[in-house]
Amino acid sequence: MEAFSVRRVIQDALKRVVGEEADSWLDDTMIGWTYNDPIEAFVCRPKRTFKDFNLEQWSRDYDAARCPCRLLRYLALLSDIPTEVLPESTHQHVVTMNPDITNNYRLRTMPKQGLNHVPLKAFDIEEALYELGQLLDKIAECIDDVARLCDRKRKLVKKLALDKARKKMCSYWEKHRHIFVEPIGQANVKTEIEVLTGRFLVTAKDKAANTPTFVCDNIIREFAVKRLSSPDFVLLHEEPELIEAAIHAETEHLVVLPHAGASLPYLMAVFKAHKWSFRWITNTANSVVSSMAELCACLLCFFTPSVRELCKDRSNLMEAEYDVKPNLWWPTSSVGEIAANLATILTPEFSADITRCFELIPTDTPEHSLVVAVIFFVECAMKHKCD
Ligand SMILES: [Zn+2]
Repeated sequence: MEAFSVRRVIQDALKRVVGEEADSWLDDTMIGWTYNDPIEAFVCRPKRTFKDFNLEQWSRDYDAARCPCRLLRYLALLSDIPTEVLPESTHQHVVTMNPDITNNYRLRTMPKQGLNHVPLKAFDIEEALYELGQLLDKIAECIDDVARLCDRKRKLVKKLALDKARKKMCSYWEKHRHIFVEPIGQANVKTEIEVLTGRFLVTAKDKAANTPTFVCDNIIREFAVKRLSSPDFVLLHEEPELIEAAIHAETEHLVVLPHAGASLPYLMAVFKAHKWSFRWITNTANSVVSSMAELCACLLCFFTPSVRELCKDRSNLMEAEYDVKPNLWWPTSSVGEIAANLATILTPEFSADITRCFELIPTDTPEHSLVVAVIFFVECAMKHKCD
């Protein structure tokens, strides 16, 4: 919902000051904007649940029978999932997607819109004009034709554009006064968010990431401790600082990498409602592995087109020889695209999901390991690029 076209306002101002020739000056310029934080930034706090707590003290003090999620107000939201996941568990805890978990109706309406929902703010014309002013300064700096104008003309363009924008915003405000401000910054909503996130982990739902799930902090910690105690994990008796330093040392020779984050990644969970279980993941943002993750993402973007082309070439060769065209590039990049392109005449289609695909690829054996697979694909991609 845009009150006016920023591009048109700037173009008009330029044309008034310079003449018709300025009409094309913005043709190669893309004007974008950023959004305020969505609800997710306020309510999803996995770090608080999994990292910022004292495990020893929690283990000592925790009494499942007296868990705060078993208060009368949450009675209707108690779930059998805990006993399903942990057969030795004897109590129900809250695991729910019901936003009625909060009795603050102001807060309740926001997660109902989804975790990606950006709360509506007050329409502050002065703030919008300040931002537009910054954009105009940037344009005066970056676009050669504008930068070449004399100081007086540049100032005039800015004044004309800001005056026009103010007029447009004022008339927009007259017509849309009914738009309300969502109370994310209000004191009672902030307090309720503190209470809610102090008792529950708010997390995304698997395959519907916009849907919030509320899980009792204590039970999700129990799940996490149980998982980390399994043979899949090895407990390291080392100080986190030493591990962080060791990880930094591993990437020190890659001087181009920014070393922003310093802390270890923490656990995060996604609720798989269709399986009554959780998918466990860790963050790559703002942690000691961030720069390496970024590098991996860049390399994947660089190599993937070559591997995809290679697969296509091989597939064509096989079709020429055997009259069967296999799909050697099996990763699905877009389910939506596949659905949109399904053949009108029905033909047998087979698709499969590999259970625990990435968890089961060995990383520590020389044969059939992840490293061997990565080397194979990188070599294929490089060879294809050279050919
Ligand atoms: Zn509980």
